[in-house]
Amino acid sequence: MNISDNCVVSIHYTLTDDDGRELDSSAGQSAFSYLHGARNIIPGLEQALTGKAPGDEMRVTVQPKDAYGEINPELVQQVPREAFAGIDDLQPGMQFRTGDDEQSLNVTVTEVNEDSVTIDANHPLAGLVLHFDVRIEAVREAGEEELAHGHVHS
Ligand code: ZN
Repeated sequence: MNISDNCVVSIHYTLTDDDGRELDSSAGQSAFSYLHGARNIIPGLEQALTGKAPGDEMRVTVQPKDAYGEINPELVQQVPREAFAGIDDLQPGMQFRTGDDEQSLNVTVTEVNEDSVTIDANHPLAGLVLHFDVRIEAVREAGEEELAHGHVHS
């Protein structure tokens, strides 16, 4: 069956950036499954998979606007070093969750100075052109409960 809305699609994929650096991969794990048409995955990849069938292999290039968006400079902030009091060895690249459960943001520390810390709440993949090497492993119709929930049940 070909991929259309309300299918459960299983894929193996490798994600690389413009420099060929591997960012993510399903290699060595079970195939990644998602509900097609429910925005479980980035729009650019979902669109490229529409109509494909098990066994198909493809390379998809997705621009930031169809992936994790452009970098928003307003999401880069300087906060006082005291905001991280109690955290020894604060380093660029460390990630934290801020805010309460409903409005939490993942932030990445990008710079650590004596008195201030720069944090970036952009998605780590914002602003990047993404290249996916994808192999479609399986396609099936979603169950009623999966459709109601908007995600795959294994
Ligand atoms: Zn569910």
